[in-house]
Amino acid sequence: MELDTRSLIVASLLSAWLMGGIAVGFATLRGPTRIVGAWGGAILTLAAGLTGIALRGTIPGWASIAVANTLVLCGWVLALRSLRLFVGSVPRDRLGWSLVGLMFLFLLYYSEVRPNAYVRVIAMAAAMGTMSAIGAWLLHRQSPAECRLSCRFAEIVFWGMAAVNLARVVVAAAHPPPDLLAPAPFNAGVFLFYTAFIIVATLAVIAMEIESLQAALLRAARFDALTGLHNRGIFLEEFGREEARAARGGPAFSLAIFDLDHFKQVNDRYGHPVGDQVLKSFADVLRATVRPYDIVGRYGGEEFALLMPQTGKETAARVAERVRHELVARGVTAGGRRIEVTVSAGVASYGVDGADWDALLSAADNALYEAKNAGRNRVVVAGQSPR
Ligand code: GH3
Ligand code: MG
Ligand code: MG
Repeated sequence: MELDTRSLIVASLLSAWLMGGIAVGFATLRGPTRIVGAWGGAILTLAAGLTGIALRGTIPGWASIAVANTLVLCGWVLALRSLRLFVGSVPRDRLGWSLVGLMFLFLLYYSEVRPNAYVRVIAMAAAMGTMSAIGAWLLHRQSPAECRLSCRFAEIVFWGMAAVNLARVVVAAAHPPPDLLAPAPFNAGVFLFYTAFIIVATLAVIAMEIESLQAALLRAARFDALTGLHNRGIFLEEFGREEARAARGGPAFSLAIFDLDHFKQVNDRYGHPVGDQVLKSFADVLRATVRPYDIVGRYGGEEFALLMPQTGKETAARVAERVRHELVARGVTAGGRRIEVTVSAGVASYGVDGADWDALLSAADNALYEAKNAGRNRVVVAGQSPR
């Protein structure tokens, strides 16, 4: 079977216009995106370059060689830029653009002054291979954990592109002057692969975007945006699980409700942004002080709930006391100043103070109320008088 190389180039440029258009369309449909829009722009630039290459013989030589190939490389630099933005590293494309500028002069020289398709093919394949390898390496080293699967897939696609370009360099170097557009099986194979790359890499990028969006939605649905702690809904879900376990004869557990003292005054005196910072700092204290299997949630505005599985009342009281003490010891720095904040807590245990959420919450709440009444900055255990 003999495949005509120019027709295959037309196939890759068509797929580039289509996939680039789809990516840009996807990006405009759903507002600001992390990668798809920028990637679409890169692929459209690549499409413009491939179109110029396919028009060889119809448009001036310098346009179909130097300009068109340079556009292909611009597409690559933009594609790497979109990957860098996605993984959250600072785009460093000055090197890429300098390479593109040099390549333009190189291609112009070897097409207009000393025409030599041989060195042009080698240089282009080497440049594209290097950029694919950089893309693959970037995805390998820095892909966010939340979308590791689609990033791995994209990484494999990029390594594949790097390998094909390396093969092109080797084949071009081993065989005397190849004509890029001649109907040779290897040329055909390369352009078939380019077409597949454009389609599959774009799908991989869309998958990366979707996977990271899903992760963001899941985060928003489960965690409180300010403190990153479990939100009330998820906390209640966890509580339900623990309650069911205990009801089936599993170990008892305890609940502590924390409420920052005179928090309204903090807001009034320093402003809401500082108040928010204080809430975040307290969340950090909670996270750092409790055990890994304890569940911490932001229960209300400045109220936090701590679920302690397999924990009796005495231990739960000690944990709550440690949190209270830690807040005082660490203090809170917000808005450039140290702010003195304290917290009160009420502790209740499954079985002793109630056997469902309502009963336990009300027992813990009553204890908290007593802690407030007794002067704040203390932990009170349900059924015991404040110390
Ligand atoms: P007490 O010691 O009795 O608990 O006094 P308090 O001032 O802490 O209690 P109160 O319930 O009167 O005030 C709670 C304050 O928490 C009022 C509200 O503006 C503030 N608050 C609730 N949610 C947020 C938030 O997300 N950010 C900020 N900055 N403030 C919040
Ligand atoms: Mg309150
Ligand atoms: Mg309060």
